Amino acid sequence: MALADRADLATRLLIAIALVVGVGAAAAWAVGATVGPGLFHEHLLRAVDTGESPTSHAERAYAAASALALSIALLTALVASAGVSVLIARRIRRSLAPFAQAAHRVAIGERNVTVSPPGIGPEFDRVAAAFTAMATDLAHVEDTRTHMLADLAHEMRTPLAVLAAYLEAVGDGVERLDESTMHIMQAQVERLSRLSADVALVTSAQEGRLSLDRHPIDVDTVVKGAAAQESDRLAECGLTIHVRSAPGLLVDADPDRIGQVLTNLLENARQHTPPGGVVDVEATAEVDAVRVTVHDSGEGIAPQDLPRVFDRFFRVDVARDRAHGGSGIGLSIARAIATAHGGTLVAESEGLSMGSTFSLSLPRLRTELDRTGVAEK
Ligand code: ADP
Repeated sequence: MALADRADLATRLLIAIALVVGVGAAAAWAVGATVGPGLFHEHLLRAVDTGESPTSHAERAYAAASALALSIALLTALVASAGVSVLIARRIRRSLAPFAQAAHRVAIGERNVTVSPPGIGPEFDRVAAAFTAMATDLAHVEDTRTHMLADLAHEMRTPLAVLAAYLEAVGDGVERLDESTMHIMQAQVERLSRLSADVALVTSAQEGRLSLDRHPIDVDTVVKGAAAQESDRLAECGLTIHVRSAPGLLVDADPDRIGQVLTNLLENARQHTPPGGVVDVEATAEVDAVRVTVHDSGEGIAPQDLPRVFDRFFRVDVARDRAHGGSGIGLSIARAIATAHGGTLVAESEGLSMGSTFSLSLPRLRTELDRTGVAEK
């Protein structure tokens, strides 16, 4: 790559100014060198002829030569700087045109808009890269929004259809408005309101608008609380839960939201582990993080589905998972909550029937003792 291609904007401007100064200096030197000796010669001859003092002739010759050299040098520098300015302006205008076009294309809703590096310095190349990244992000947000609306419409269709069918049947006298009909209709209404609450929550969490009541908490308390809350239901399903956690795992977090993530992971473990299975919950301290893993010995997740379980509305087995009331948003909410805390939530599974492990990692809050190294484990 040529030096000019790698030079930053400041270097390029310096080169341009140096060029103008150089042209002016060269013009001054050229004029001085070509006109000066002639002028001196002529004045000295005149001094001999007229008998005037050679000193005053030499001074006049010097004044005339330097005035001429300076004027021509200034004029040349002016012309050179005008030329260089026009060239620079044209080059910058040409480089900015793709940005204007790209911004217009983004504004009219086009996706996958990219701007290639204009090649007039790393500053402009960085702006081009940032613009392309922004356009890609916008396209992604727009895609997600479109898919979300489509998924939402799809999710609402079934409960609404069931409600409409029952209302019509009751209206026509085909069905009686007895307890069982009421129960079915109520279940559909509950499903719709849960869907609405979940969508509102995941949207605000992913937009970073989730209200978090953060303060230093011990993860041990939250882990044991969530396990205690779920243990009866796990036992009813024939599952055994083991909890390994000890006090002293401090994080700056909203205990309700972290509790919600853990409850969701435990509910999923219950729903996807056959009776007789085991659910292990373990909280461990790492250098900069506290990690909580929820492992089950259940049905596992196929490798191709692993990256998708955190997608909104994704369910491995749509019919079966929908039957147990899931809308496929639980893990999206859980991950959004983890991210809002500056943490991560990842899933691992060796494959179908091999169980699953979900790991929640949160930035660890160091105590004074940790910092001084006294209590470092
Ligand atoms: P839902 O709210 O419907 O349970 P989630 O977002 O919590 O949805 O989970 C998405 C999908 O990921 C589930 O439908 C299920 O197919 C899969 N999944 C979640 N947890 C587990 C698990 N522990 N074992 C196997 N599959 C799981």
